[in-house]
Amino acid sequence: MLVCPHDDKLREECGVIGIYKQGAPNLTQMLCYGLIALQHRGQESAGIALNRFGNVVHYKEMGLVQDVFTPAIMQSLGTGDIGIGHVRYSTTGESYVANAQPLVVHYKGGGIALAHNGNLVNAAELRNELEDNGSIFSTTIDTEVIANLIARHYSLGYQEAIIRALQDVSGAYALVITCEDKLIGLRDPYGLRPLCLGEFADGGYILASENVAFDMVGANYLRDIEPGEMVIIDGAGVTSYTYCPPRRKSICSFEYVYFARPDSTVDGRNIYEARREAGKMLAKEHPVDADLVIAVPDSGKSAAIGYAQQSGIPFGIGLIKNKYMGRTFIQPNQEMRELAVRLKLNVLQSNVKGKRLVLIDDSIVRGTTSRRIIDMLKAAGATEVHVRVSSPPVTHSCYFGIDTPNRQHLVAATHSVEQIREMIHADSLGFISQQGLIDAVGLGDQALCTACFNGCYPMTIPQLTIT
Ligand code: SF4
Repeated sequence: MLVCPHDDKLREECGVIGIYKQGAPNLTQMLCYGLIALQHRGQESAGIALNRFGNVVHYKEMGLVQDVFTPAIMQSLGTGDIGIGHVRYSTTGESYVANAQPLVVHYKGGGIALAHNGNLVNAAELRNELEDNGSIFSTTIDTEVIANLIARHYSLGYQEAIIRALQDVSGAYALVITCEDKLIGLRDPYGLRPLCLGEFADGGYILASENVAFDMVGANYLRDIEPGEMVIIDGAGVTSYTYCPPRRKSICSFEYVYFARPDSTVDGRNIYEARREAGKMLAKEHPVDADLVIAVPDSGKSAAIGYAQQSGIPFGIGLIKNKYMGRTFIQPNQEMRELAVRLKLNVLQSNVKGKRLVLIDDSIVRGTTSRRIIDMLKAAGATEVHVRVSSPPVTHSCYFGIDTPNRQHLVAATHSVEQIREMIHADSLGFISQQGLIDAVGLGDQALCTACFNGCYPMTIPQLTIT
């Protein structure tokens, strides 16, 4: 039996990139390479916008970056000095090409392109208000709300217009924008979604959701954009402004648990190291006698290595992933998730037969996939399966751009740990504690958003938004 591990996970919404490089002969190609490195953050659509002295051209389509940006498409886009790109998995707004990004609009101040990772919690309110005042929307994404707000203030100049627009919005955003002769990067005052800055040794700058994108195009990591910071990049270099006083820092915990690539560093903390530490912490908090530590591939692997190192139980391979079935096949609706369930994982029987296993997973959201995996392992001859999870129980929905089911579908919102253990057919079950995860990430007690574990949202969630 084959099982898909991705139908039971939280999903990141988007990845963003922006490059400013004067005289670049191949800017489109560089943006493509960067987007391929960010592909894990969204597999439904991909887009690139190039800004040639205020004349913005763009192309976006449903599909993976390498399928969307064929050599012919890249050639037709041409090149330029400034460009931005986006990969998307939809959480707000339906999944069709008009909702793909970058969003390109033309207003009295000129052409502007925006790429947004995150979710506004007051988008519905703002949209109603804008529509009441005559604004017309051509997409259902909240990024268009930001674009409309910028247009409303255009007479103040692009910089002030963007700042005024963001004073009205509440929520999570890492934004990359290009207009006039500028590349602009902004991070919300809580720093919920990541955004970092790099530079090219031969001149030019790059912004991206994760610094793995820098490696793909030969740029060097400089620093993360701070919460509430706006950077403006042009011929004069990088200018930084605090456009809004930073609030209590609230980087999404799931960047460290699952979303970001292990070879990325988010806000100064390498993801692989954070996951390995979480695995070690899990071994301290939930020890068990067993013969082999295995991971739900691929995202449970770093934590499994940490669990093995701390416990002294050997790490091995128990589950094999079908790497030729891309995540793009799994459409974001329940019906397709169910169909895809059997396609992705198989058991390495010779390695698990007769063994007491510790199975490391990064999260349990609905619990349906865990049960299938454990049943498969037992059918293959595992004598015991002890499940250890490197995130705390997910008990609350996310409103900041992460696709979580409604609360009633979150298994930990309605079941105790013991009830979940029974439900998934595990011999024992242990989740890392919230403090354990915070300590493993190592950025201090006041750095992470942990709202989906405890319901303490970093900002007020409007009633209209609550599910
Ligand atoms: Fe991340 Fe959870 Fe906070 Fe959403 S609620 S931003 S998934 S930690």
